[in-house]
Amino acid sequence: MSNTDFMLAVEDLTVSFDGFKAIDNLTLYVDRDELRVIIGPNGAGKTTLLDLICGKTRASGGSIKFRNREMTGLPEYQIVRAGVGRKFQTPSIYENLTVFQNLAVSFPRGRSVLGALTFRTTEAERQRVAEVAAEIALDEVLEREAAQLSHGQKQWLEIGMLLMQDPKLLMLDEPIAGMSVRERELTAELLKRISKGRAVIVIEHDMDFVQRIADKVTVMHQGRILAEGSMAQVQNDPRVIDVYLGH
Ligand code: ADP
Ligand code: MG
Repeated sequence: MSNTDFMLAVEDLTVSFDGFKAIDNLTLYVDRDELRVIIGPNGAGKTTLLDLICGKTRASGGSIKFRNREMTGLPEYQIVRAGVGRKFQTPSIYENLTVFQNLAVSFPRGRSVLGALTFRTTEAERQRVAEVAAEIALDEVLEREAAQLSHGQKQWLEIGMLLMQDPKLLMLDEPIAGMSVRERELTAELLKRISKGRAVIVIEHDMDFVQRIADKVTVMHQGRILAEGSMAQVQNDPRVIDVYLGH
């Protein structure tokens, strides 16, 4: 297929599990600097779509181009190396390391956990840690043990660990689950900040939160795209109200 200017171009993507099409001929384009939110009822295929993009699940057909490079068929680590970051729902931070150490171990070609504890960090690493810590609003607690952070702060730390590698596409599945109201507000600001220079895809159910962050909303249903557009457009779409918002 042709080259595009999109950060991510998903075309005619399909995946079948025992004959059931969890993703059914789906086409989706995401721009640079865009924060896209994907909504839809349970079982719509939202998580499966992220699994396909990050290489955790293999497509049955179609194409996934990231910065014009075909990703289908690549192993997960090569997709990560190409610049795709994925945050899972349970944070995989090191509870007994400090915020600083958690970020430092995530520096590309990074040191081992042991290395981060025993060796001095380089100036480049310290600088990158400082930048990322400011982006995730943890710059005042760099020496705090991760175990002492609030639930929301732990989620931000994991986002920070992904940012250390400077991904150009970042995907987050229900990032505000379990957060306080204040943490949700701060997460909205954080996601807007980090979408600059990248593409960010967020799966979310909380419509107030979606309203606050989305550049564009994609509504999925039965493995396909039901509607796409501004929050106002999809909210007033009778098909969307019928299968999702009306419930
Ligand atoms: P969502 O995230 O929108 O709630 P999912 O992507 O988790 O939906 O699931 C979409 C559909 O695909 C569901 O019917 C689910 O049961 C099915 N599914 C997801 N992963 C697998 C798998 N590995 N094997 C079989 N079925 C799966
Ligand atoms: Mg899901």
